Amino acid sequence: MEERNCNETGGTCIVCSQQKELGIRIFQSFLCTECEREIVQTDAQDEKYPYYIDRMKQIWMSAIS
Ligand SMILES: [Zn+2]
Repeated sequence: MEERNCNETGGTCIVCSQQKELGIRIFQSFLCTECEREIVQTDAQDEKYPYYIDRMKQIWMSAIS
């Protein structure tokens, strides 16, 4: 009985640029669980919001190029 970790090896987060074990892989980019949560909880009025959107945009741009 082999248990497989669906998060595999983790990676370098595209938002906080830190090496993290847990997170999601979006195409070639990696987003850590903390930043993912942060993005979800960030209000559109928050000054950090455009930054997150920008980072997310870069993920999509690299995915389609
Ligand atoms: Zn992160």
